[in-house]
Amino acid sequence: MMDTLLANDIKQHDEVRQGEAFAPFMMDNNAYKKRFFIESYGCAMNFADSEVVASILQSNGYGATKNCEEADLIFINTCSIREKAEATVRKRLTEFRKLKKVNPGILVGVLGCMAERLKEKFIQEEKLVDLVVGPDAYRTLPGLIEEAETGQKAVNVLLSRDETYADIAPIRLNSNGVNAFVSIMRGCNNMCSFCVVPFTRGRERSRDANSIIHECEELFNSGYREVTLLGQNVDSYYWQASPGLSEGGQTRVPVTFAGLLEMVALISPLLRVRFSTSHPKDITDEVLFTIARHANICNYIHLPVQSGSSRVLQLMNRTYSREWYIAKVNRIREIIPDCGLSTDMITGFCTETEEDHLQSLSLMEYCKYDLAYMYFYSERPGTLAARRFKDDIPEDVKKRRLQEMVDLHRIHSLQSMQRDVGKICRVLVEGFSKKTAEDLQGRNDQNKVVVFPKGNLKKGDYVNVKIESCTAGTLIGTPLPG
Ligand code: SAM
Ligand code: SF4
Repeated sequence: MMDTLLANDIKQHDEVRQGEAFAPFMMDNNAYKKRFFIESYGCAMNFADSEVVASILQSNGYGATKNCEEADLIFINTCSIREKAEATVRKRLTEFRKLKKVNPGILVGVLGCMAERLKEKFIQEEKLVDLVVGPDAYRTLPGLIEEAETGQKAVNVLLSRDETYADIAPIRLNSNGVNAFVSIMRGCNNMCSFCVVPFTRGRERSRDANSIIHECEELFNSGYREVTLLGQNVDSYYWQASPGLSEGGQTRVPVTFAGLLEMVALISPLLRVRFSTSHPKDITDEVLFTIARHANICNYIHLPVQSGSSRVLQLMNRTYSREWYIAKVNRIREIIPDCGLSTDMITGFCTETEEDHLQSLSLMEYCKYDLAYMYFYSERPGTLAARRFKDDIPEDVKKRRLQEMVDLHRIHSLQSMQRDVGKICRVLVEGFSKKTAEDLQGRNDQNKVVVFPKGNLKKGDYVNVKIESCTAGTLIGTPLPG
C-alpha cells in the first residue's frame, strides 16, 4: 500500500534502514550469557535509541547477533507515526512467532513508540510478546529481562521528564565508521494535531551539552567525519548546567541550539555537522548565521512544512502561516544562498479541500525543494486531530493528491540535480557505490549523493568532485586532484 512516496531514489537514512538488524560486535570473543537480536523501524531517533539499548545490554553481559534464529532475546524497536508503520511491525511479529514455536525459550521484546502507545494492551493483543518497554525505560531492560525469564510478562512504559541517556556511550551499530547520529534531545512539546510523537516520547528535554561534545569528540577521534545532531525539534534545544554541576569548571551560561552547533563545529574543521529536524517556528537567524559562518556545518536544512494552506496549518496546530513559512525560506536563502532545502508534506488532512491542496502544490513550486518526504494523512488514535476532527478525506483522494505532489516534486528534484552539473562540490567519502566497487560514493554539503571513480581515495576522505552528469537521485562526477 502506498502511504509514503519519496521523490527520487535518494532516501532518508531511516527509510533505507527500516527493519535493519545489527551485529555490532560480531568479532567479539567475550563469553556473553545470552545473545540478543535487535531491529529498528521509524525515524533516526529510533535507530539512535537502538544503539543506546545495545550499549545497556552489552554492559550487562549480553552479546549481539545479526541472526535472529540464534538469539535468546529478540527486540523490535517500533514506530507509531502512521498506521502502516504499525502494520509492518505486526507482520514482523508473526515471523518471530514461528521462531518461538521452534524455540519456546526465546523472549520477544517490543521497544519504542508502539510499546508506549499500546502499553499492556500489546501483550493482550500479541501473545508472543514478553516485554513491552517504552523509550524512556531502557535502563530498566536488564531487570525486565530477568523478570520475563521467570515467565512473567514485563512492562515498563513510564515516561520521564529528564531521561536523556546522556551518560551512556551508544554502541555504533552497522556503522560505516564515517557518519553517526548523536541524540541531543528527547520528546516534543509541540502538539501538532496529527502527530502521535508527544504521546509516545513525552515532554521535550535537552541533553547535557558537555556530554554531547564529549560524544562528538570521541567519534571524531575514532575516525568518524560526520555527526547528525538529532531531535524532534532541534531549534528548541536549551541546556544549562545545574548549580551543583557548575563547580567542576562547567559554565552555567545557557546553551542554545546555535551555541551547540558552534561548539560541535569547533571540534575540528574536518568534522561535518548536520542536524534534524528543524521546526519553522523555532529556527532563528542566529542558527542561520552560525551555519553560514562555519564551513563544516552543512548547508542543508530539513524544514517540514506539512501543508501550503494557512487554514490547514492552523488545524494542524503548526503555529505558522504559509506567508510566515515563505518568509523563513526567503531568510534562509538570503543568509545561506546555496542552502539545500527539504521538507515533509501531508496530503488529505481533515477537511483539506482541492483549493488547500493546490496551495500545497504552489508552495512546493515556490520553494522548489531539493528533497521532500510526502505522506497521506493517517489518523492516529489519541491525537488532537483524532479527538477533534473527522478523518473525512476519502483514501483515494488522499492518494491522488499525494501522487500529484510526488509528480511535481520529481520535476523539482531533477532540476535541482541538473543545476549542479558543471559545478565542483566537496564530498565526504562514505564507501563504495551501490553499483560497483570501482566507484565510491559520498554526499556533498547539500546532502546529495555523489558517485565517482575511486582512484586512491578511501572512506572518510574529503575530495572535490567535478559533476558531469546526474540521475534523479545521484550526481556523477570526477574527483579533482589535491
Ligand atoms: N518533528 C518533525 C517535524 O516536526 O517536522 C518530524 C516528526 S515525524 C517523525 C516525521 C513526519 O511524519 C512529519 O513531519 C509528518 O510529515 C509525518 N507525519 C506525522 N504524523 C503523521 C500522520 N498522522 N499521518 C501522516 N504523516 C504523518
Ligand atoms: Fe510531531 Fe509536531 Fe513534534 Fe514534529 S514537531 S514530532 S510533527 S508534534
